[in-house]
Amino acid sequence: MERNNSVSPAEWKHLWKLKLPLKVKVFLWRAILNRLPTLDNLLAKRVVNNVLCQICQQADESSIHILFYCPYVEPIWFGSALGLIPRKLRLRNFVEWWRYLNTAAKQTSTPFLIEQWAIISWNVWKARNRKYFEQSEFNPNQILIRYNGMFQEYCLWTSKDLLNPPKKTMVRKQIHSCWTRPPPNFMKINVAASYASKSGLAALAMVGRNSNGELLVGRTWRCSASSPLMAEATVLLRAIQSAVDMGLNYVIFESDNEALISCAQGASKPSPWEISSIIHNIRGLSSSKPSYSFSFVPREGNRVADWVACATIREQCPYYWAHCPPNILMTLLLKDSVT
Ligand SMILES: [Zn+2]
Repeated sequence: MERNNSVSPAEWKHLWKLKLPLKVKVFLWRAILNRLPTLDNLLAKRVVNNVLCQICQQADESSIHILFYCPYVEPIWFGSALGLIPRKLRLRNFVEWWRYLNTAAKQTSTPFLIEQWAIISWNVWKARNRKYFEQSEFNPNQILIRYNGMFQEYCLWTSKDLLNPPKKTMVRKQIHSCWTRPPPNFMKINVAASYASKSGLAALAMVGRNSNGELLVGRTWRCSASSPLMAEATVLLRAIQSAVDMGLNYVIFESDNEALISCAQGASKPSPWEISSIIHNIRGLSSSKPSYSFSFVPREGNRVADWVACATIREQCPYYWAHCPPNILMTLLLKDSVT
């Protein structure tokens, strides 16, 4: 059993100061002390004689298994705004996991990371109990829906502009302040995301043009994200996937997020925690296409994709924008093509 004294007073204080419902904090406290009635704990007390996880039937049920590593739970973490891939983390127990998240929370701009983690864990635990005691189906999608609802309520409850991280001043290299055409036979795909901080929803846009500046491909998506950076990384990944699916071999992907482009290019320093799994996928996908490259452009040079993303989140972008651009978009495209 994990010992109480392995957690410092400062760590306990941090736990109790979290703005979470008391029942969730008590749940975390029990999990940290390894006092949840998981099957391994019940075996130790001789209450049960079988520790096999009743959900996956593949491993012993400990708190770290049922809340994180169980194969039925893994998709919940990946599908959440946190985008975690459990099998990539080697954590022995709940305390290690909690500490890992606390460290990550200090290094990332993901707002309320610990609170989101706690809400997901709580919902997984509740679903596990319903499965065990009420024979309800353990449904990862439903758990994600419950978490999204609970987190939105939480955002309203704390009534802050939660998801607006402070603006950073960034010194940008003024290489091209405007959009530039790609070389012949190349396509340039500009990507942008617009993020609604209150809802946590993002609109994503990709705009592909050839060396004449002609609009050849345009796509938009909507998704939830935990930060603007996560939204921008997501759109870059989806644009690469689209290019691969379309069989495009010569593509320059362009974003106005310098940190993201630096990560995609394979910068030696670690990616921000919140997008590390997305960057991993970006590098994996682009490694099979040696003629794919990434470039940074200041915001002015990304205004077409930016306009589409902003108009989409405001629900003002026509459905057929890529085939029949509205006047304002046509003006921006023409301005780009003559520079
Ligand atoms: Zn399991």
